[in-house]
Amino acid sequence: LYTRSSQLFAEASEVLPGGVNSPVRAFKSVGGTPIFAKEAKGAYLYDEDGNRLIDYINSWGPMLLGHAYEPVVTAVIEKAKKGTSFGMPTELETEIAKLALSMVPGIEKIRFVNSGTEACMSAVRLARGFTNRDKIIKFAGCYHGHSDSFLIQAGSGAITFGAPNSPGVTQGTAKDTLLARYNDLDNVRSLFEANKNEIAAIIIEPVAGNMGCVPPQEGFLKGLRALCDEHGALLIFDEVMTGFRLSKGGAQELFGINADIVTFGKVIGGGLPVGAFAARNEIMNYLAPLGPVYQAGTLSGNPLAMAAGLAMLQDINTNEGLFERLEQKTAYLEKGIRKQLEKAGVVFTINRVGSMISVHFDERPVVDFDTAKNGDNESFKKFFHGLLQEGIYIAPSAYETWFITDALTYEDLDFTIAAVG
Ligand code: PLP
Repeated sequence: LYTRSSQLFAEASEVLPGGVNSPVRAFKSVGGTPIFAKEAKGAYLYDEDGNRLIDYINSWGPMLLGHAYEPVVTAVIEKAKKGTSFGMPTELETEIAKLALSMVPGIEKIRFVNSGTEACMSAVRLARGFTNRDKIIKFAGCYHGHSDSFLIQAGSGAITFGAPNSPGVTQGTAKDTLLARYNDLDNVRSLFEANKNEIAAIIIEPVAGNMGCVPPQEGFLKGLRALCDEHGALLIFDEVMTGFRLSKGGAQELFGINADIVTFGKVIGGGLPVGAFAARNEIMNYLAPLGPVYQAGTLSGNPLAMAAGLAMLQDINTNEGLFERLEQKTAYLEKGIRKQLEKAGVVFTINRVGSMISVHFDERPVVDFDTAKNGDNESFKKFFHGLLQEGIYIAPSAYETWFITDALTYEDLDFTIAAVG
């Protein structure tokens, strides 16, 4: 079925360390070869072996409105014709900044970078600088980027991303990261008690998408907000996955909790590399005297990326009923999958928040990261391979989130539900 992809993978492995980009890890975990894409449109991927797949990954999350979305494509082409990176500021950066600030509550200034990883690293640096403290609380299973040594050392990479002993990852910074358990407020409280006046910030995925869409329990985010206020620490919401996806204003708006610093990636770039971090003036102005090198790099805020991001946000901002539609489609999918799996007598849990959904093949709503491994579950492997054979592409690892695009039709969803059976 995948001869061409296998060939391409072999070629790639000769010139790219460990083969092609991130999906490799996930495919290896289920004992397969990554599938190579030829093109994509709307809700569909067309692979190099001539198959059409319904896409529940959408480039791992950015394509909320579907692939090759016309307004974004047009904006990028228009801008590309006029030059891509000028080494001068453009008005576009201000325009997208104004729009993002008008959509997301509680933020007054924003800085654009090139990825979610950079956004989260910048947020942590900003929190440390602003509070003049070093320690950061993060949660096991939450992911904030691939090269953030202190965060990787302390947890999320340890199992999900497998890079704790990467060369260049220093031990020195690891002691400054305090690892907590998601949804365990007492655990966080005791970390604050044990490290009085030393904790700069808590960084959290407000919905733990990288754990398989684990929602925050009632009162958890509010409790974190209160602990941060009590101890003079900052609350960082990593909204790389949830931003502009769960609602216009992201998780902050959905849960009615304001963070101090917010990070963005994925959807904000409309498929081009854009990340951002934002906060209110009091915090962001700390950066103002530090100069541009501290804040961003060569291609940050480049016109092409800004054009794509601006077109994406403009569409999301004015797209009538978008979030209701996404929610309805995802709820429909959830209901259908539930029915099918129950009929098949499988033990499972489904986590869903808005248009993020994840199916777990055991009874635990929260994955035990001390013992679990990616894709090690036989029920999951069977499920994944079965869907792939039907032409449905989901995240090939046991606890990643499926992303729903607005381009998915109810026929696509019905087809998927039938295939689950
Ligand atoms: N934070 C979260 C919550 C993410 O899901 C990701 C990526 O999946 C990142 C940060 C890192 O973003 P990027 O892959 O753009 O570097």
